[in-house]
Amino acid sequence: MKIKLIKGDITKIKADAIVNAANSSLLGGGGVDGAIHREGGKQILDECIEIRNRQGKCKTGEAVVTFGGNLPAKYVIHTVGPVWNDNEEKGSKLLANCYKNSLKLAESLNIKTIAFPNISTGVYRFPKELAGKIAVDEVKNFKSDIIEKVIFVCFDDENEKIYKKLLEE
Ligand code: ADP
Repeated sequence: MKIKLIKGDITKIKADAIVNAANSSLLGGGGVDGAIHREGGKQILDECIEIRNRQGKCKTGEAVVTFGGNLPAKYVIHTVGPVWNDNEEKGSKLLANCYKNSLKLAESLNIKTIAFPNISTGVYRFPKELAGKIAVDEVKNFKSDIIEKVIFVCFDDENEKIYKKLLEE
């Protein structure tokens, strides 16, 4: 798996799938979630509502998939990151699950390229340094014969700097 770093807006990325840092309601929110629903259009929300009707809310660390609607990406994988609450061990495990479960779901869909935002590092206040380390570790440890490229999309300067450093190591 190749790993790439891009600074910018994940809604513009032309990958087989982009990952959304959703909330458990799956009904949209602010930050990257808001941007994805805004740019992707109603089809994404309609599918999210269908998923909710079928299985209820999405638990923290788990992932579900919809089509990308008007986005350049074919699919959106919605995963729910943990809200930072000073329980480093529990939070780290849940954040790692977000990456693992998104990658597993991507494999099941035969996805070759997938882009991740910096899950939980916005409104959910997860320490960026720790979140970056978890993200890079999970992706590096995930061995796949299907996924060819993982793109980390950093929206803010601080995350870009952190990922640059982590990926140089
Ligand atoms: P969370 O609730 O998981 O913290 P946020 O959307 O608040 O989710 O923030 C997660 C990360 O997404 C933050 O690092 C934020 O800077 C970033 N972000 C916000 N908008 C976008 C976007 N359009 N593309 C990529 N990343 C974004």
